[in-house]
Amino acid sequence: MIVLGIESTAHTFGAAIIKDRDVLSNERDLFTTEEGGMKPFEVAQHHVACCDEIIKKALDKANVSIKNVDLISYSSSPGIGHTLRIGNMVAKSLHALHNIPFVGVNHCIAHLEIGDMTTGSKDPVLLYCSGANTQVIAYDGGKYRIFGETLDIGIGNFIDSFARYIKLGFPGGPKIEKLALEGNKEELIDLPYCVKGMDVVFGGILTNLKTKYNSKEYKVEDLCYSLQETVFAMMIETAERAMAHCDKNELLLGGGVACNKRLQEMARTMCEERGAKLFVPENQFLVDNAAMIAWQGLIEFQAGRKSDEAETATIQPYLRTDEVEVLWR
Ligand code: AMP
Ligand code: MG
Repeated sequence: MIVLGIESTAHTFGAAIIKDRDVLSNERDLFTTEEGGMKPFEVAQHHVACCDEIIKKALDKANVSIKNVDLISYSSSPGIGHTLRIGNMVAKSLHALHNIPFVGVNHCIAHLEIGDMTTGSKDPVLLYCSGANTQVIAYDGGKYRIFGETLDIGIGNFIDSFARYIKLGFPGGPKIEKLALEGNKEELIDLPYCVKGMDVVFGGILTNLKTKYNSKEYKVEDLCYSLQETVFAMMIETAERAMAHCDKNELLLGGGVACNKRLQEMARTMCEERGAKLFVPENQFLVDNAAMIAWQGLIEFQAGRKSDEAETATIQPYLRTDEVEVLWR
């Protein structure tokens, strides 16, 4: 089965072609800025400007004609309304032109399923650390349950906000990671450690970091180092507690922030200490990508999900992970 995946939940417009379990192409274009963050209407304009080219690239690279595509899958939830709408419209247009069935799928769950498909994890706890989303997810009792999550902003947005404040541009995660490598590892700067039960909070840490940055008493590299140590430890703590609670011995990473080598190292240490297995997908499947949307569509369609109706197919910017009906397990 050949599937065209379309991703547009936030900064990334992506298109991918998969043939069963083979990813034939996985193209993307990322909205970036030199200074300042993402304004939804500007990101939507970016997606409109690049969508034709990215889809063409994905088809060409896979050596597939649109006529041979059996299913179109787009991300319908959750995300920024402005940008979700673009993927939805592209899918509907291609459906209208070529009469190809199409389905909208949940982006967070797609991160977990592409992880299982590409790394071989079977029943993991997913530590999902991305721009807008920060959740600890596992399958339990017929649904993908959220065992812990951010109570305010996503971990990536938190890192990007601090990066923006110190004028590093968007996305800031890779730049903060680089600076952190030069920080003093002997001395951890005291930052608020905000784990509330199974949930995490980043707003207070951000304010604290800004105050410390403005005081000019700290080196930027040291602040970046301590930022990473503190918030990654918070995430690893909640992930570990979820693993203990669900009695699962696999940890899967997902989301762009999971590209961070220090987060991966901390996850590895935690898993080793409890005799669990760590699964880290390739970077191209960690960040927002269309291959995972294609794969999610494929497994749902093969499990009996019907093509959406063009008239009613819609976006659900606020749909939560545990509201998705699971047909495929
Ligand atoms: P996603 O929304 O899953 O595509 O992830 C995007 C987020 O990942 C942005 O907030 C980036 O700043 C962040 N990110 C990407 N690479 C890294 C990295 N190496 N370290 C930390 N954050 C990163
Ligand atoms: Mg994501």
